[in-house]
Amino acid sequence: MNEFEQGIVVATRGRLFEVRAADGSHLKCEVRGSVKAEADATTPVAVGDDVLFSRSHSEAGAIEKVLERRTTFGRPSKGIEGKLQIIAANLDQLAIVSSIKSPTLKTGIIDRIIIAAHVGHMEPFIVINKVDLGRTDALATAESAYRSLGYEVFTVSAGTGEGIEPLRKSLIDHRTLFAGHSGVGKSSILNCLIPGLNLKTKEISSYSNRGKHATTSIELFELPSGGYLVDSPGLKVMGLWDVKREELAHYYPDFEPFENQCRFNPFSHIHDPDCAVKKSLEDGEIHRFRWENYVSIAESI
Ligand code: GDP
Repeated sequence: MNEFEQGIVVATRGRLFEVRAADGSHLKCEVRGSVKAEADATTPVAVGDDVLFSRSHSEAGAIEKVLERRTTFGRPSKGIEGKLQIIAANLDQLAIVSSIKSPTLKTGIIDRIIIAAHVGHMEPFIVINKVDLGRTDALATAESAYRSLGYEVFTVSAGTGEGIEPLRKSLIDHRTLFAGHSGVGKSSILNCLIPGLNLKTKEISSYSNRGKHATTSIELFELPSGGYLVDSPGLKVMGLWDVKREELAHYYPDFEPFENQCRFNPFSHIHDPDCAVKKSLEDGEIHRFRWENYVSIAESI
């Protein structure tokens, strides 16, 4: 094993992976068959993986071993039931990006990604972009609801630079994944945070008011102030793996004070006529949108 060096996978390049070695050099690496055979996900190597590799020459090599992952972020694979497609590994924060308008603020996807972050052991926070288009009532509701739940909310404009500095500070020395619907401005925000990055941004397609799908590869970008950022491919459907319907409420700190008052345990809150959560909703103690999203997520898993 002594001839192997340790590095970090910073990008996927088709079938090859770009690895950053400890000395700062970058190599294009293939993946050994033994690594593929060992993997229990459809993606044996993911961006963010710490790996042992061998060099065939100064710019090429082979990944010999994937070291144990501290965290994973993924989604169920298309086609292979029960298998996970790992989007990125060893990340510690998840920036959930949404926009005020174009496309409109969707708390359903925010709630889904919050759960995915907890499942993958990452600290989630929320970034709401395009504040230059005007602050709305929906924004004010979402801001206060998520802050009261303990999630940090950054309201920013990649267009004008408003709010970018506080966001930048929260990223230093972390490895942060940016996730959210296509078109909300993830690439634009990354371009603001890393001068010279020049990620391609997309025109919003006029008929669907949704960004065109343009992110094809996934890459770890080095922040000048320390830390890494990852732009995830536009997530049309944010699948939740590994979460059973009856466990879903455990990811809702807002439901917790009322949990013990429910008749059924474990409970699903949906079909229980005497559910204390439902009552708290009527009393205004729980935000209606959180409940509606919960029901829709529960029904989808
Ligand atoms: P991504 O798909 O999430 O990476 O989104 P992009 O960064 O490609 O941005 C999608 C569209 O939104 C592009 O046309 C951007 O110019 C636009 N956009 C991004 N950030 C802002 C912003 O802060 N304000 C406004 N008005 N438009 C923005």
